[in-house]
Amino acid sequence: MGSALFHGGTILTVDTENRSFAEGWIAVRDGRISGVGPKATTPDPSGYDEVTDLTRHLVIPGLVNAHTHSAMVLFRGRSEGQSLLTMDGWYNSIREPELSLVSSDIGPAVALSAAEMLLSGTTTFCDQYFFAEEIATAVKEAGIRAVIAYGIVQLGDKARGEEELAKATAFLEQQRSSDGRVIPWFGPHAPYVDNTEDLLLAEVEVANRFGVGLHLHMACGPEDNEETQRRYGTTAAVALEKIGFFDGRIHAAHCIDLSPEDIAVFARAPHASVSYNATAGLRSGREGICPAVELKAAGVTVALGTDNVAANNSYDMVQEMRVAGLVASHREGRAQPLSSRELLRMATIDGATALGLDHEIGSIEVGKAADITAFDLSGPGYSETPDPETLLIYSGSGRDVRHVWVAGEQLVRDRQLTRRPFAEIRANYSETYRSFWDRVEEAKKNREVA
Ligand SMILES: [Zn+2]
Repeated sequence: MGSALFHGGTILTVDTENRSFAEGWIAVRDGRISGVGPKATTPDPSGYDEVTDLTRHLVIPGLVNAHTHSAMVLFRGRSEGQSLLTMDGWYNSIREPELSLVSSDIGPAVALSAAEMLLSGTTTFCDQYFFAEEIATAVKEAGIRAVIAYGIVQLGDKARGEEELAKATAFLEQQRSSDGRVIPWFGPHAPYVDNTEDLLLAEVEVANRFGVGLHLHMACGPEDNEETQRRYGTTAAVALEKIGFFDGRIHAAHCIDLSPEDIAVFARAPHASVSYNATAGLRSGREGICPAVELKAAGVTVALGTDNVAANNSYDMVQEMRVAGLVASHREGRAQPLSSRELLRMATIDGATALGLDHEIGSIEVGKAADITAFDLSGPGYSETPDPETLLIYSGSGRDVRHVWVAGEQLVRDRQLTRRPFAEIRANYSETYRSFWDRVEEAKKNREVA
């Protein structure tokens, strides 16, 4: 793959000491970071195949979006006035059209989502949905890194559960890409919707064997808690811990309604993490807000996610960091209980930790994969400051991303995708969007006639 040198930018390494280098440099060899340091130690550029001047750029580890459903870009703007964190909201806006989805819709939708993520600086995302094979194919074509959680749906049927588990296990066996960019997981939708205890435990057993995890929705609001109380006589986290579910690697989305006891469950578990989806949570109008500050104080890994873009409407993780910070300030009633530095860690290394990838990505350190994002700070909205993290989060935008590398491969150069033109991805998507919604309309008519 060759070698590359990036120099002249402000580098936020997000390593354990949060080292930063003004006008620093990063060297990359064969897709991995081979050096990073201050201006005074910049190597001789003649020793590198490619040299990029990043003067007036802010360089960070690639952003990690810890929870989304990338194919659901097809539903963007289709759930206005509905809370997607309630059964009703989901039924009213998503459930029926979702029945008209066919496998050929998925590739163009995921391609658009991956393009939007890359162009706004995200290099890894955690996805959960049906059609996991089609998602994996589209992710491989885009070159972005993703944990793809195979959506396991049981619908109270034991035989169906076994069949789904077999299919999901085959997905784990077949889809792990040799370059490490596609990491298959299991994705039981949510304990209150589906998946019996027996099935969940079988999933943990298989996932542990493959060294991967389970990504699910948990504690999405009062309705969710009522259902788990009815079913287990306690909260989902407490009930699931009792049966041994938390022995696996568990990455739970939302968690807007956690009791102190639930937080203790997450803190005790060996590999439990939370995706705090501030924009989606806030926009849904639910009473609860993920207790990110308490979770972090208890030692729980808290990552940041956008959720689907019918709930959020954007994949911009800079915006997500900002909203996460603002909401935490409001919830705790004090100024910035999550510092900008912490928010950047949540959107990078903590996301990597949640996905079991912290040995590989999430910070700019020698030996890690070169997943790197460079923001152009030469335009309006940016100016001199001693605090580049705050500049990025509270003044910045994902639209100012100029270059992105994944495993050393430059996937965004000068704000353009390198593998495939955005215009082509968008045209393909638009065609798919039209045919999908025509199908939805057709199905609706047929139902009305019947
Ligand atoms: Zn979700």
